[in-house]
Amino acid sequence: MKYTEGTMGRVFILRLEDGEVLNDTIEAFARDRGVRHASVTFLGGSADGSTVVVGPDADRSDAIVPLTHTLQGHREVLALGTLAPDEKGEPVLHMHAAAGREGDATVGCTRAGVNVWLVGEAVIQEILGAGAERVHDPATGFALLEMNEVEPRGAARASGPAPEPERGVDSSSGRAAAEAADAAAADAAESTAESAVQTIPARRGHAVRLKTGQSVRVINTHGHQVVDTWAFSLPDPTESMSMEHTRAALRSLFVSVGQSLVTNRRRPILTLTEDTSPGGHDTLIAACDRYRYEQLGCAGYHDNCTDNLAQALAQLGHTGLETPSPWNLFMHIPVGEDGHLEFQPPRSKPGDSATLRAEQDCIVVFSACPQDVSSIPVNADAPTEAHFVVLP
Ligand SMILES: [Zn+2]
Repeated sequence: MKYTEGTMGRVFILRLEDGEVLNDTIEAFARDRGVRHASVTFLGGSADGSTVVVGPDADRSDAIVPLTHTLQGHREVLALGTLAPDEKGEPVLHMHAAAGREGDATVGCTRAGVNVWLVGEAVIQEILGAGAERVHDPATGFALLEMNEVEPRGAARASGPAPEPERGVDSSSGRAAAEAADAAAADAAESTAESAVQTIPARRGHAVRLKTGQSVRVINTHGHQVVDTWAFSLPDPTESMSMEHTRAALRSLFVSVGQSLVTNRRRPILTLTEDTSPGGHDTLIAACDRYRYEQLGCAGYHDNCTDNLAQALAQLGHTGLETPSPWNLFMHIPVGEDGHLEFQPPRSKPGDSATLRAEQDCIVVFSACPQDVSSIPVNADAPTEAHFVVLP
């Protein structure tokens, strides 16, 4: 067994109409609303002539050939499914339905084509931060659910030593002791795991906890990738790194080595201690979001830094936080004397890095910006992965 871990995101209730195709309708909705992973339930009717897959064809031993079955008459349908993206990032629903009529019931996979009869109700429960993808398996011909490199916290914890609960924790409260042990174990596992180089996957986000005094080195592995960067104070993440407060504190549009970025409560949170890139990391441009890509004419859902931030934070158990303006590491936005701005590709070379020291306990979130629209060449039109390493 493999697994990934996520947290609950948005919940949608849908009314499907007569004649709508079940999988197509749910997948189109997920694409439109940017739902990558979800649990889906459906309740309603299927129209006469709907088709379900009812198992492999036993007569064909050389390959798995799906056996389809046409449902006779309108039927009552109960269905459960999982939604996950395929290798291109397109949402794919895997749903099994029981379809009954007058004591005769058939159970099958709805991907063959189930048309809604009269009306259907679906509930989509979004799962944030899960690292799972449907990957084509040549052996079976199926797109199997594969867990990708997004490391579930539980797995990291299980691989590390589980320290004893701290002495002095109120012994009358088993739950408090368990929580303390849990937190200590998580910290231990994280600090072990995070001394290694970690990937910020292309077009995705990644969050990491830092203790005061720890540093993180962000590496522009391929040289032309913008890394949107945020920092949230702990234990109260409503305090966060603020570009507008930082510009006022520094009286500058840019941060130089040795200078600190401050929060919306004007306290230092990160200091740029080392920078092998040409610097000039942008502090002006908002994180990209679905609206940006809609405006740029992209059809359907486009990966974006705003959703990457929310997903990365959710993986550490934080939801509902606002999206502060990011510090756009490696982003090159020259500012003209007249205030004119230009979107240009990064000037860094492969392997350039910026090192940031935490001035308070915080969560730092990175997003390898997925901007690939040719009129906005901030990633040289080719978004890539980047890396980071936590330094003690
Ligand atoms: Zn972006």
